[in-house]
Amino acid sequence: MISIKHLSKSFRNPDGSVINVLKDVNCEISKGEVISIIGPSGTGKSTLLRAINMLEPPTSGEIWVDGENIMAKGYKLDKMRRKMGMVFQSFNLFDNMTVLENITYAPVRLLGMTQEAAKAEAMELLHKVGMTQKAGVYPDSLSGGQKQRVAIARALAMHPEAILFDEPTSALDPTMVGEVLSVMRQLAKEGLTMLIVTHEMRFARDVSTRIFFMNEGIIYEDGTPEQIFEHPIHSATKAFVNRIQKLVYEIEDEQFDYLQIHTGLNQFCLKYNLSALADDAYVIIKEMLFEHLKGLRPLTFRITHAELSGETALDFMVEGMKESPLPSNDAVKKLRARVKNIVEEPTLRGFRVKIILK
Ligand code: ADP
Ligand code: MG
Repeated sequence: MISIKHLSKSFRNPDGSVINVLKDVNCEISKGEVISIIGPSGTGKSTLLRAINMLEPPTSGEIWVDGENIMAKGYKLDKMRRKMGMVFQSFNLFDNMTVLENITYAPVRLLGMTQEAAKAEAMELLHKVGMTQKAGVYPDSLSGGQKQRVAIARALAMHPEAILFDEPTSALDPTMVGEVLSVMRQLAKEGLTMLIVTHEMRFARDVSTRIFFMNEGIIYEDGTPEQIFEHPIHSATKAFVNRIQKLVYEIEDEQFDYLQIHTGLNQFCLKYNLSALADDAYVIIKEMLFEHLKGLRPLTFRITHAELSGETALDFMVEGMKESPLPSNDAVKKLRARVKNIVEEPTLRGFRVKIILK
């Protein structure tokens, strides 16, 4: 139904420099799919949605909708806008119209429906989103969750083939997120094609047929929720879905400030509720830096903690090494017995020794 080929989008900054926000986005979206787009902020998720419905015309590439290239000269954008609804983080309701008028406005103007037919249908849609009692009020008397449900009803009133949602719950008070997600779950069940930019991981995992992980302006990894959340291929995907927190130190030579590492470690452990590990971790860090990996510089040391799995590790990456820098002596044997696991693996830049504490 939607096919995107080599889509790119750049913006020119006021100082004349160019930023490439979408680099080479390719994807196929079939009817009835529910696709969640996840990824760090600033990676082009909103820009992609806005490019798909031409609110932000792409710099190059092709977008095919129902067999027509909507970027071709002469294509009537109205036609595509009718097929694709959009729901924004900030609702974008018409404040000078009642809830009912917000919903009937476009069907009357653009689809040529009669007022009566449009009203009757709007009432059905309001019923669907649980908002019939608010038909006559103005948006500013509604809560955020209610506004977003009206915005969804308004999008549905155009009988779209797909709805694009850009972080529909991000502006909401946490108590109102659920009511909007449950409307969206219902729509997914009914087979509406949906493209949803969201940070609600559990929701994305439950309702989506596919997940796009966007990173650095491309669809970095795409797969079923099971693939993306349980068996991601790329480490950036893994870090994102696991919500991996890290603290990184670059150690250039022997003159590094290990007290600074101590302070950082303690703060990190406090923040993620790992204080029970802090003392042992510090002993191991000193042992690694001053004994087992002594003189092996530069090395990058990081403390990582995956909030979802709970895995906490000390990770030492020694540059330029092809084999494990860990000696096989008694001290290291004892260390192995004290921790959960030690993973030794080559990386692009060197060799990593990852000590998994928990
Ligand atoms: P996301 O939705 O993933 O957080 P966006 O698509 O909003 O990311 O933005 C991606 C990047 O593009 C950001 O660095 C943002 O500053 C930049 N950007 C977005 N819109 C514009 C614009 N109209 N002009 C210049 N830069 C923009
Ligand atoms: Mg965004």
